[in-house]
Amino acid sequence: MAAKLTALKSKQRERTPKARRADLARIAEGVRLILEGIGEDPNREGLRDTPQRVAEMYEELTAGMREDPSEHIVPLSGNKHDEMVIVKDISIASLCEHHLAPFVGKCHIAYIPKNGNILGVSKLARLAETFARRLQLQERLTSEIANTLYEKLGALGVMVVIEAEHTCMTLRGVKKPGAQTVTSAVLGGFRKDPRTRAEAMSLIVNSKS
Ligand SMILES: [Zn+2]
Repeated sequence: MAAKLTALKSKQRERTPKARRADLARIAEGVRLILEGIGEDPNREGLRDTPQRVAEMYEELTAGMREDPSEHIVPLSGNKHDEMVIVKDISIASLCEHHLAPFVGKCHIAYIPKNGNILGVSKLARLAETFARRLQLQERLTSEIANTLYEKLGALGVMVVIEAEHTCMTLRGVKKPGAQTVTSAVLGGFRKDPRTRAEAMSLIVNSKS
């Protein structure tokens, strides 16, 4: 048990913010090697600034690694709302950790507030973004968003559904353009009560045009 706890703690430490910047020079060095590896000349005019540009792009796409997601858990004050809240169609863009290829899609979040603690829509979107801007697996992204709302906001129930297209699947390998991967994480009240879960699911699915 103690060993398990230590393992958990060190895992958490790995994922907490360290430096606020990525090492751009080091990434650029790697990009130069990729260019050479595919038989390009990194010094030709069109490619001269590419390593630096790609480095800056990766820094932006992994910015969530250097942020603390709990910063976004700031409940709106003076609220006593205790009914289910659903925020749909939050755009997310993340990087698959197996291929460093983007996956993009929509995140839907439903939760049942406790003591009227609700989050503004922009905070929910920022929370999703902080977890998306890391090297991810869609399954882990889904449960990290759900767990944070459940534990840090103290929601009574949380359901997160993510639908995304993985470019590592649609551009290469099996090549199934448009294929969507759907993942969900269900906690607390949504898990215990199938009717509440069904209600949230139908609100997420039905109002799609
Ligand atoms: Zn992949």
